[in-house]
Amino acid sequence: MGTITWDTNAVNDLALDFRGDLVHPGDASYDELRRVWNGSIDRRPGLIARCTGVADIRSALAFARRTGGPVAVRGGGHSFPGHSTCDGGVLLDLALLKGIRVDPVRRTARAQAGVLLGELDRETQAFGLATPSGIVTHTGLAGLTLGGGIGWLMRKYGLSIDNLISVDVVTAEGELVTASEDANADLFWGIRGGGGNFGIVTEFEFRLHPVGPIVYARPVMWPMERSAELLRFYRDWITDIPDELTTAVIHRWIPALPTIPTEFHGRPVVVIVACYAGAVEDGEQVIAPLKAFAPPLLDLCLPKPFVAHQAMFDPSFPHGWWYYMRACDVAELSDEVVDIAAARGLAINSPLTSYPIFHLGGAISRVPADSTAFGDRSSGHTFNFVGATTGPDGFPAEREWVRDSWRAIEPHQSGAYVNFLTDEGEDRIRSAYGASTYDKLQDLKRKYDPDNLFHLNQNIPPH
Ligand SMILES: Cc1cc2nc3c(=O)[nH]c(=O)nc-3n(C[C@H](O)[C@H](O)[C@H](O)COP(=O)(O)OP(=O)(O)OC[C@H]3O[C@@H](n4cnc5c(N)ncnc54)[C@H](O)[C@@H]3O)c2cc1C
Repeated sequence: MGTITWDTNAVNDLALDFRGDLVHPGDASYDELRRVWNGSIDRRPGLIARCTGVADIRSALAFARRTGGPVAVRGGGHSFPGHSTCDGGVLLDLALLKGIRVDPVRRTARAQAGVLLGELDRETQAFGLATPSGIVTHTGLAGLTLGGGIGWLMRKYGLSIDNLISVDVVTAEGELVTASEDANADLFWGIRGGGGNFGIVTEFEFRLHPVGPIVYARPVMWPMERSAELLRFYRDWITDIPDELTTAVIHRWIPALPTIPTEFHGRPVVVIVACYAGAVEDGEQVIAPLKAFAPPLLDLCLPKPFVAHQAMFDPSFPHGWWYYMRACDVAELSDEVVDIAAARGLAINSPLTSYPIFHLGGAISRVPADSTAFGDRSSGHTFNFVGATTGPDGFPAEREWVRDSWRAIEPHQSGAYVNFLTDEGEDRIRSAYGASTYDKLQDLKRKYDPDNLFHLNQNIPPH
């Protein structure tokens, strides 16, 4: 991408009207700030506007409209396909918006758009409270919530969006509006699943629930060759577990972490990670039959601080590695799905590549389908094939493992979660939402962003 030449007057006007930093190509911090979590994405925005509040967001948006460049919006920077950066346009970096306020009496929390999952947990857990979010603490709260938000509390308390009370949004026209069940209810519906299509959310208000601070959680591991047998046991066992328990089955090689004895490092395993969002003694009882399936190779499922459990996967997905991901939902773990799952595990040929299968259902499936813009709430499981390397070396082979895995499971897919899509085209986005939700989202887009200013996302073009 060549050097961008902005209209000098527009740049000068913005500089006078902006409190945060404006970072241009060539500035000392530019290369650091243009990076996103996925190291395989290498883009060069024409300007990085590090916003300090709503006023800066409005000024940067006005600049983007005036100069006509593309607009990228960044929360935590964890979009797999790199939607929170761009070549040549304006990047609104919201990372400085870190305000969090917990009201322990009303059991609510307000969090600004630059907050990461671990930062919110830290504040809410100070009062023994939490709201459902994701499984890696350095993920951005904003992008995760706007797509739905699945994680360890979801079967008990629903998706992140099911716990949203209100949002403050700067629209494409630069207007600040609040959206909730009572105000701009159409926007509130669309924000809950429709991603960043309708405006820039500056602040979220969530409901909180008593969680931990100690929970019965973490992984139990068996040798990978027992995968098919374990998955058959697991699918029967989960038909009868309480909503407090959320689990994921993970195929991978044991990572070389200091918390794991070295003799286990690199062993291919099938892992069930559990989190019981209730009393520790109850969790121990509920999980006991799983541990009795067969003597585990390694059993790390014990009482643990909830915040430690939330951070468990952080070292497996560090910033800067190269990642490629494909994902889809399945209705159930049929015999065919189990056999594919086991075969794809055995085909892993890298210590960094892995895939979780999250168990959905519970509270997620009890929220009426049309009350939010989230896609299919009836799916039983979501597959998430993640190929990873530390840099370009070996990346094509891991990407091929992901593609082969996805092709194998595709005939059994029942839907997809938008936050797990890569750049897969409009038909795939439409099918992730379902036709009627997608139509309604297109109408809403016409109302709030008719020019598709916010198109660097899982885009819903206006009708
Ligand atoms: C390591 C890792 C673990 C993950 N784990 C989970 C998980 O457990 N559960 C889950 O549900 N998802 C998970 N995801 C997927 C995650 O939800 C998405 O990648 C999400 O987009 C990340 O949000 P972000 O703010 O970090 O991303 P960003 O890349 O900053 O943004 C993603 C998209 O949201 C838009 N956006 C960001 N902030 C705003 C805002 N304030 N207003 C409007 N639009 C905005 C961006 O423009 C972009 O289109 C994970 C992703 C990664 C990389």
